[in-house]
Amino acid sequence: MNRSEPEPSGSPFEDVTLIRAGAIAGFDASATIVSTIPEAFPEAHRRAANARPAAILVSAGRVAIAGEPNVICGFAGDRPPRVIDLPDRLVMPGFINVHAHLELTSIGPQPYGGDFVGWVAMLREHWPGEGEAFAKSPDPEWFAAAAALGAEQSRAAGVQAIGDITRFDAVAEARRAGGLDGVSFIELFGMGTPWDAEALARLGEPADGFQPHAPYSAGPALFDAACASGRPVSCHLAETHDERRFIAEGDGPFLDLLQSLGKWSPDFASRYGDGLSPVRWMEPYLRRAPWLLAHCNYVSDDDIALLAETGASVAYCPIASEYFGHDNHRYREMLDAGVNVCLGTDSIVCQPANEPQPLGILPQMRRLYQRDQTDPALLLRMATAHGRQALQLDGKLTCLATAPFDPDDETDALTQVLQRQDPVQALALNEFSS
Ligand SMILES: [Zn+2]
Repeated sequence: MNRSEPEPSGSPFEDVTLIRAGAIAGFDASATIVSTIPEAFPEAHRRAANARPAAILVSAGRVAIAGEPNVICGFAGDRPPRVIDLPDRLVMPGFINVHAHLELTSIGPQPYGGDFVGWVAMLREHWPGEGEAFAKSPDPEWFAAAAALGAEQSRAAGVQAIGDITRFDAVAEARRAGGLDGVSFIELFGMGTPWDAEALARLGEPADGFQPHAPYSAGPALFDAACASGRPVSCHLAETHDERRFIAEGDGPFLDLLQSLGKWSPDFASRYGDGLSPVRWMEPYLRRAPWLLAHCNYVSDDDIALLAETGASVAYCPIASEYFGHDNHRYREMLDAGVNVCLGTDSIVCQPANEPQPLGILPQMRRLYQRDQTDPALLLRMATAHGRQALQLDGKLTCLATAPFDPDDETDALTQVLQRQDPVQALALNEFSS
């Protein structure tokens, strides 16, 4: 039998839905497609970001095959499948937002005054129990309510899964209850004994994943224990010049801050002040786990080579990086070197006040397309397949996103989509009723 032809007796898939779309984009064999018959999937369609009339076969809530309509229709078998016709829609995999802080959603977009410490103080004015009371007994429910709002906004923007940073289990529960797949990274702070004892204890408890906050706020013991947890791991890295200075030279504003908090011990000196870049500082941990590294605004050629060699993923948040004044991000050089660069929003606080989808990934793609003329197909991979790899979500997806599409328009459909302001609608297949 020619294995590119379906079995005549019926579909190899169960509970089949056939989606006939004006175009599909962003599917590739390593990502959403979970077909067990790869020969049925024409090579041309294995590549991401094909925008052409196509069909998608959904089996038991998952994309089984996508590709040419006549091939795909054959796989529906003898039984007439449920058919969803979307001739004027572009169908894409749900977006993956690899770095967010949903628990800050209630604060909304805010201006940046140019001073990071002042910016953090501004955040703290919004949340309850400021000061000592907050430190001792924060109210997780306030943050969980904000995360629920963030999950709702994310889904409305076609985001299916998220790498969310939080200190609270209640926030992780709100994310899941809000229908967002992904990883809630429990954030950990602590610079040496005794300040990291609580964080080390937390690392022994259940969690989707862990995030030692950054090398200047979570010391080597937490990075070491995070690797040993066997869970997905993330951290902020190479975000600011001050961070580079603290790690390389062991002084500067971050040293002042730690000393003012009473959280600096001379025994840390053995790990800071050796002239290392933040990425080189991370090397022992990068070699032990596939890290998801937020920002990486300031990296050298040597850093990029190490990131590629160790299989790290970089969460690039273009709008947030600009908001904080970081420019010339080297994401394209990282991609060229083989680094898995994906896209994130960071918190809603960093997004423009007039953005209708502040927790959407499409605005991040639009920004890079408009600013750098980055290949739309590459942007789509960063927004989907790369994010799935970073969050270790293989085979988990059940959602698609759709956007308007005019099949008679001769211009590049994907470019057209990226330039449009229309909202992308999340289409949860297992909830869809035609
Ligand atoms: Zn962050």
